[in-house]
Parts: sequence; structure tokens; C-alpha cells
Amino acid sequence: MAMEISEPLVDVLRAAASIGVVTGAGISAASGIPTYRGKGGIYDDPEEGDRTVEALSGPTLRDDPDRTWHAIKQLALAAHRATPNAGHNAIVALERRARRFVLLTQNVDGLHESAGSENIIDIHGNLRRTICQSCGVIGDEPEWTTLDGSPRCACGGVLRPDVVLFEEMLPTDKVLRLYAELVDDPPEVVIAVGTTAMFPYICEPVHATRLAGGTTVEINPEKTPLSDVVSYRLAGHADVILPALVAAL
Ligand SMILES: [Zn+2]
Repeated sequence: MAMEISEPLVDVLRAAASIGVVTGAGISAASGIPTYRGKGGIYDDPEEGDRTVEALSGPTLRDDPDRTWHAIKQLALAAHRATPNAGHNAIVALERRARRFVLLTQNVDGLHESAGSENIIDIHGNLRRTICQSCGVIGDEPEWTTLDGSPRCACGGVLRPDVVLFEEMLPTDKVLRLYAELVDDPPEVVIAVGTTAMFPYICEPVHATRLAGGTTVEINPEKTPLSDVVSYRLAGHADVILPALVAAL
């Protein structure tokens, strides 16, 4: 079924010199990665959800790193079974068209990198990297299939996943980049894709572009706090709507 994209939106996107895209779990749903809080998400079952959230928290990493790594391993194995979908690929095509492009993602699955996106702010980190808690070196992901307990650095320190866990702060360097590239100098067009828009720092780029007189778009099958704010709301799944949008350009 052909998806109708409104002409004025196509015109704006064709002419845009700068584009920002903000993604959440919804973009990876078609790749088989469960969403978090949306319908059927991994935190949908409250008890199971509570245990997973506790395992994936800063305090648990400190007190029982093996438990955190066990939970991280499940997420990483799911990410490795997945491949980028048509939505991820359409975002790469948008990046190649725009003179300035920035992708802010909440996802830690690494699928945007796999698809070929380049200017990425992975505000919650990436499962495919580790940081040594002793020497601070940033390294590749561990060999997941054989991982038992917590991986160690060559220096002997315990590694942590390079992801923001529950009850942890966002990394300062990425927050500064978010503000520099998406808020202080907002792109002409910002497209929010598959995010439940629960976090202020995820909504802020949309508000910044709107206040600057730019165009804002939301792609999501469900309504979110952004739905009544954006210039265009495209109700549907990212892997269907994003390719249709790119094809119309
Ligand atoms: Zn180390």
C-alpha cells in the first residue's frame, strides 16, 4: 500500500539544509527488538519489568556487577540477532541529502551505526562498547556467547557497558553536543521517530525547532506528548513511513 505523504512536508524536506532526527525504541521494533514502555514492551509485565530495571541500574552495577552484566547480555544478544530495517536505512538516506544532519537516539542496540548513520548522538550509550571502571579505556563489546559474570580490562579493572543505566546521569559530553547541535542551533526540520517522548531532553529539540519557526514531524503509531505540538503527525510504523517519506523526495 502506497503511503501518502503531504506535499508541503515533501517540499520543506527537499529544501531543508539541516535536518535532525530523534529516535526511540519504535524504530528498532521492526528489527525484532522489543520496545521499553510501549505496548508489548519489555517493561509491560510489572514484576518482570521491575526486576530488569533493578538489574540494569547504577546501584546494582556497583553492588553486583555480574547481575547487571547478565541483564545487559540478554539485551546484547537480542541486538546481535537483529539487523537494521527500512526505517534505519531511510535515516541514512536523509543524512546523505542534508548539508547538516544530526541523529539523536535513545537506543543502545547499535543498529543506526550498522545501517551507516554517521553523525549520531547516542545519548544512552551503545551496548557494543565497554568502559573500564579503573583506567577509563573505551573498548569493544565482550564475546557475549561465552561471557559469564563481568568482563575484565587488560589492566585488571572491571568493565562496565557504555550505556546509561537506570539512576545514572547522562554523560556530560553528549548532553553538550545535544544542546549545541539540536537546541542552540536548531535544524530547519526535526523528525521524532518511535519515541514515547517521556524525557525532556528528547522533546527539547522538537520544541527548539518549533520556536525557531522550523518544521517538526512525529512518526509514531501511538499518540505521545509531542503529538499535539508537531507540524506534521504521521501515524504509523517507522519502517513503513520513513521509506515512503524518502521515496517522495
Ligand atoms: Zn582498564
